[in-house]
Amino acid sequence: MPHRPGESACDVLIAGGGPAGASAALALLRQGASVVVAEPGRPRGGWKLGESLSPRAEPLLAGLGVRDRVAAAAAHIPYFGNESAWGGSALVDIEFLRDPHGPGRHLDRTRFDSVLLDAIREAGARHSAFPVRWPRRLPGHWSVPLGDETVRARYLIDATGANASVTRRVGATLRRDDRLVALAARLPPPRRARHDGSRASLVESVPLGWWYTAPLPCGAALTMVMTDADIAARLRLRDPEVWWRELMATTHVRARLHPGTRRPPDRLRIVRASTSRTLPAAGPGWAAAGDAATACDPIAARGITTALATGLTAAEAVAADAAGDTCSLGGYAERIEAVHTEFVHAQALCYSAEKRWHTTFWTRRQQDLAAGRPHTDAGTTVPRD
Ligand SMILES: Cc1cc2nc3c(=O)[nH]c(=O)nc-3n(C[C@H](O)[C@H](O)[C@H](O)COP(=O)(O)OP(=O)(O)OC[C@H]3O[C@@H](n4cnc5c(N)ncnc54)[C@H](O)[C@@H]3O)c2cc1C
Repeated sequence: MPHRPGESACDVLIAGGGPAGASAALALLRQGASVVVAEPGRPRGGWKLGESLSPRAEPLLAGLGVRDRVAAAAAHIPYFGNESAWGGSALVDIEFLRDPHGPGRHLDRTRFDSVLLDAIREAGARHSAFPVRWPRRLPGHWSVPLGDETVRARYLIDATGANASVTRRVGATLRRDDRLVALAARLPPPRRARHDGSRASLVESVPLGWWYTAPLPCGAALTMVMTDADIAARLRLRDPEVWWRELMATTHVRARLHPGTRRPPDRLRIVRASTSRTLPAAGPGWAAAGDAATACDPIAARGITTALATGLTAAEAVAADAAGDTCSLGGYAERIEAVHTEFVHAQALCYSAEKRWHTTFWTRRQQDLAAGRPHTDAGTTVPRD
């Protein structure tokens, strides 16, 4: 294809170089496609949440050819399982000892993402540090401005995360099922718990939602509370002092704290953690992958695994479409819808197991999720930017 000055061409332009974008890129490069990955990187000072990698991610990383690389270069500590006090006050262990893939990993998430980005560069993808903002659909291709250049791409994959910022511009709808938020801090290293539990993550339900703590490779303890945005606002949880008071009211998370941790963190990191999906998740010449396709409540701790899996499947659908299979992208969109539906059922069962609290957070979930409906906003459609 002849290009004008400032114009380049590729088979697939991937917006986003997180786990979903990296997985799609590696799978497409392996099939001989030319790939550009647009990944602007995170704002300075912002650390990324999502650090527990399930053992189920291991075969995906192996299949993508990056398992050894991640093991060698991405700082991590083994993740032997979860402890939870959910539906009762006693701690229950869920260990990965019998998992055929071995333990999971508590990751340095920034390092993990950058190891994946290095792998796709080395495998032959071109990396652009500009975000995808205004993709235009022209006959047979996309025209996408990236900084000073314009990239002509036959296919576009949206792997921009839970905001699905690209697919919303190409006509798809992002539906959020709830208004869950995480209010998180990094606290000093945890106290060692039973069964070397300091290397397990810990979940404790409380009337306003649930707390979570897990060790990070840097030695800190990621500690966060999950609740709905309106509840967080009403309780003024964004104030580190208020957050700390609620933490001190927990039993097990508090017991995990380092004895020297006696004061609130200086600041909290607050992020949206809604369950959401994009409808449809693919269309002519495009597909969404990872959180941009279907994002799940962090209680499942499966977002990275789903991102790797859907990146791979989106790449297969794009390659099949390029080879003439006109049903592949529609079939992919149906699979994403099925994955989302399966998750919403599992989520309903999970929340319905906690019957001790009759507060707004829990009654929303117990009533609506048990009936198979999304809670709070009854599924909010996110407007285009
Ligand atoms: C509070 C919280 C805790 C979580 N904990 C866990 C956990 O313990 N384990 C787990 O497996 N999952 C967890 N998750 C979920 C997990 O983090 C996500 O599912 C996973 O990161 C999704 O990967 P992704 O590649 O789809 O998107 P992301 O990881 O969000 O990557 C998207 C990338 O796109 C880039 N981008 C954004 N806009 C543009 C644009 N316009 N153009 C180009 N690039 C763009 C961003 O810079 C980013 O790097 C958690 C999520 C939350 C909110």
